[in-house]
Amino acid sequence: MKRQEAMEKAKEHFQRLIEEQLGRVERMKVGEDWLDFSKQERIIIGVVGGDGIGPYITKEAVRVLEDLLAPEIAAGKVELRDVPGLTIEERAAANNALPDDALKALKECHVILKGPLTTPKKGDPWPNLESANVSMRRELDLFANVRPIKVPAEGIDWIFFRENTEGEYVLGSQGINVTPDLAVDFKVITTQGAERIARLAFEYARKNGIDKVSAVTKANVIKTSDGKFLEVARAVAKEYPEIQFDDWFVDIMAAKLVDEKRRKGFKVIVLPNLYGDILTDEAAEFQGGVGTAGSANIGKRYAMFEAIHGSAPRMVDEGRATYADPSSMMRASAMLLRHIGFLEEASRLEMALDICGQHEKRIALTGRSDGATGSEYADYVMETLKDPSLEQRWKGCSSE
Ligand code: NAD
Repeated sequence: MKRQEAMEKAKEHFQRLIEEQLGRVERMKVGEDWLDFSKQERIIIGVVGGDGIGPYITKEAVRVLEDLLAPEIAAGKVELRDVPGLTIEERAAANNALPDDALKALKECHVILKGPLTTPKKGDPWPNLESANVSMRRELDLFANVRPIKVPAEGIDWIFFRENTEGEYVLGSQGINVTPDLAVDFKVITTQGAERIARLAFEYARKNGIDKVSAVTKANVIKTSDGKFLEVARAVAKEYPEIQFDDWFVDIMAAKLVDEKRRKGFKVIVLPNLYGDILTDEAAEFQGGVGTAGSANIGKRYAMFEAIHGSAPRMVDEGRATYADPSSMMRASAMLLRHIGFLEEASRLEMALDICGQHEKRIALTGRSDGATGSEYADYVMETLKDPSLEQRWKGCSSE
């Protein structure tokens, strides 16, 4: 292709992307109100098993939810509903990352508990579809990815607010090979997108009496888009004078998270999409690995709760799926319970998970046959949940 022709094609491509993004900004400006769960007669929790280890660990989390919500389910106030059509085989057959019927079914639910979904990569036997996770976050406008990490014994109590719909991901499949030698991707940050995630982080801090919020960017190098994110976060911070605000570059933040003295000082952390993706996986390692961490994808109308890890195909190939740790999906379930207003059930589940996974560890998960299965571990959690002295037991563990 001639140089001039390549440039014209690239300009047309860029123009189309900019038009789409300006449309998205307009839609964000209109906004919508938060869904009030206390006003819903029946709350529908959609369940997506997912791929790989997904169905195994999701099944265990559903058992726990069914147990905790048994009275509400029996009274018809809560429904757990399977949402089909989203396995990689089904998405490949529809040649669509988020098939229409599945999206419609998701939209009939209020909240979603989702197992990990495989994203095809080059060399896989499926069409090179967009990540279903990314398209779900976009289609349901789940703009905030909230990931708590707690290791009480080490003084770690962080909650990450990762922007979920912009950054490098919003046009992740729409980069352009201008010529065979020149590949260009795009990063997008909008005032509206940055403001709503910053505000959610500060509101969370205010509601929970937390006195510090830290923003993470690479604004010294990625000056325009990260620069905007930081500028907006600073402006929002001014509305919360009782909360201290500081900002970090992502590289030094990655280092400080492993600095035992320094890391205790971090509390609420707000950051753009890609940095949030990377730092939260790092942070999860302190808590016992990605298998122990849940995450919430929050929008004003919908919310989706999932593990922070993927479908772990290697575990499945090696016949180890039954040994996958379901804690991640149970942590996600606790966040779901909190989101829909079941605060007591949520904290009981969190306490049980702290006891079973971090303190007592009567059953060890190793991801292999020398450890417990996910089902055995779920039994342990459910038995712990039934203990009338759960709170005392948890307090005893936490003060060790
Ligand atoms: P992965 O997170 O699936 O697994 C990496 C390794 O982490 C596994 O091999 C395993 O050793 C360990 N692991 C993960 N979850 C575990 C658990 N519950 N218990 C014990 N060990 C666990 O990472 P990957 O191999 O890079 O991704 C696999 C697929 O998942 C890809 O298709 C990817 O796109 C997809 N993915 C989906 C999501 C999501 O659904 N939100 C997130 C990340 C990756």
